[in-house]
Amino acid sequence: MKITINNREYDMPENISILEAVKKANIKIPTLCYMEGKEPYGGCRLCVVEVEGSKTLVPSCAVKISEGMKIKTHSEKVRKVRKTIMQLIVASHGISCELNCLTCPKATSCELKTIAEEIG
Ligand code: SF4
Repeated sequence: MKITINNREYDMPENISILEAVKKANIKIPTLCYMEGKEPYGGCRLCVVEVEGSKTLVPSCAVKISEGMKIKTHSEKVRKVRKTIMQLIVASHGISCELNCLTCPKATSCELKTIAEEIG
């Protein structure tokens, strides 16, 4: 199946999600709730991407690729929305902990901290 990711064409197997296709293309999309082999939950929404023809951003873990699909993984719109989503996640995370990464014992292995830093 032919799809386009960030203006480059790829041949992908059928019946895989956009997120799986993007991974096969060696492009990294942030996710917090995706677990390989498990039914996608689509809860964190960090993996949203732009799909040509779609009015809204789509959660890449929960949507399968289709022939001719054109995907943008890091457009300005996507990065802006991801940053807002991450701000909301961090804000609600702060309710349940001190949110002080400098003193937190989990800081060296915290996925939330790592992705938040990557997103900026
Ligand atoms: S390292 Fe992770 S768990 Fe610890 S305060 Fe920072 S975001 Fe929270």
